[in-house]
Amino acid sequence: MQLQSGMRAVVLGLGTAGLATVDFLLHRNLRVAVSDLRHREQIDAKVLAYLEEMDVPLETGGHTAAFCADADLLVPGPGVPLDLPVLRAAREQGLPVVGELALAAGRFRAPVIAVTGSNGKTTVTSLIGTLLQAAGATPFIGGNIGTPLLEYFINPDQYDVVVLELSSFQLDLAGSFRPDTGVLLNISPDHLDRHGSLEAYTAAKLHMFSKQQAGDIAVLGDDDPVVAGIVPNSGVLSFRFGVGPLCTARIEGGSIQLHVQHQGQVRRERYDLRETKLHSLVNRLNAAAALLVAVLHGSSREAINRGLAAFTPPPHRMNEVAVIAGVRFINDSKATNVGALRAALSSCSAPVILIAGGRDKGGDYLLLRDVVAQRVKHLVLLGEAAPLMTAALGEIVPTQSVVSMDEAVRASMTVAEDGDIVLLAPGCASFDMFSGYMERGQAFCESVHRLQQDQMVEGEI
Ligand code: ADP
Repeated sequence: MQLQSGMRAVVLGLGTAGLATVDFLLHRNLRVAVSDLRHREQIDAKVLAYLEEMDVPLETGGHTAAFCADADLLVPGPGVPLDLPVLRAAREQGLPVVGELALAAGRFRAPVIAVTGSNGKTTVTSLIGTLLQAAGATPFIGGNIGTPLLEYFINPDQYDVVVLELSSFQLDLAGSFRPDTGVLLNISPDHLDRHGSLEAYTAAKLHMFSKQQAGDIAVLGDDDPVVAGIVPNSGVLSFRFGVGPLCTARIEGGSIQLHVQHQGQVRRERYDLRETKLHSLVNRLNAAAALLVAVLHGSSREAINRGLAAFTPPPHRMNEVAVIAGVRFINDSKATNVGALRAALSSCSAPVILIAGGRDKGGDYLLLRDVVAQRVKHLVLLGEAAPLMTAALGEIVPTQSVVSMDEAVRASMTVAEDGDIVLLAPGCASFDMFSGYMERGQAFCESVHRLQQDQMVEGEI
């Protein structure tokens, strides 16, 4: 988007991305103001001091029409609901409402690889980063994954490639953003609370490809029926990964078979994942996507093998916490939607005692009935969604509700037998009981470790 010095921009939401947006706009000599839902005393004193020093007016405790009145553009942060009255009013008046991606569009100085999907984004984004680094590149890795994407512009010449994890929220307001390589992993119902319908959510994900031009690359998850049906823009080179025979990166048992023709080169290579930390079914899919991107960006076979060996998937994603009396405890706290919960259960080859529940996100738990019937022997439910999940699943599996993570872990152990798996895969957000999925995963790990200690003490008595 065209930004002119002196324009007045109002940034809504002062999270880390909002703060990076303020910096980005100040550097381009815009007059910036910030509006945040929180009250002044809830905002970090250093942030307040910085805004004061930079002469940035701040509205707290809500977003008012008066504060936004003479704005030339509004920039909501990635977590801000798009149906806020001030945003609706702005759109009605024809005021631009843009996100970080729209601000960044056309300004990158290096090729951009962007990854989206309902599940696996963080794993794939960080694996692509690791594979490119192993090949000697210096990637900027950011977006939804931690470092706000606009921080790239603080020192862009330091990077030779940009790897972005993008959420549907960011893609909603992407303007003319166009990735050189767009990766769409899968689409399962998530965040329907914000997007309203699966169609709207899918449309947000598809913004990724809508501006692509001839010669750009689309990497698509072939095992997902919605993604498999995507037809990229004319001239866009499309590559598919999955289990199907026509995939350029095909999963064959514990390996990925690549057969890529690109820029006059043909590469036929097999990558064995059995000795890596990417052996679960979902991570083989993620590895296939990331390997494909690395090969398309010129990484050698040796570099890819080095990167695969070095890679540790991020925590709270199918990590084994402990084995107690032959029962494996697995933490998949990041499974915050029905699709991730389904994938987690599909990856388990032993009977599962499932700990699920939390804040409902509008997901359809009935979609889990088949996989729960096949894999789950006992269901332990926590949090606000427990009644909804009981209604959807209670008649097909013994189900109990508990009030704390500690109780969930102990209740699971009482029904578990040698060889079973106790899996935390909530299928819901965590905010009813925790500050986020990390705190929830941490609480699970601590409860498991306490249980382990108690069992050891009992064993000694
Ligand atoms: P995201 O960044 O999209 O939330 P993560 O890599 O953080 O993705 O993983 C989130 C959750 O999704 C975890 O529970 C993980 O086990 C599960 N998951 C990871 N990759 C996939 C995949 N390809 N398909 C389905 N679920 C996945």
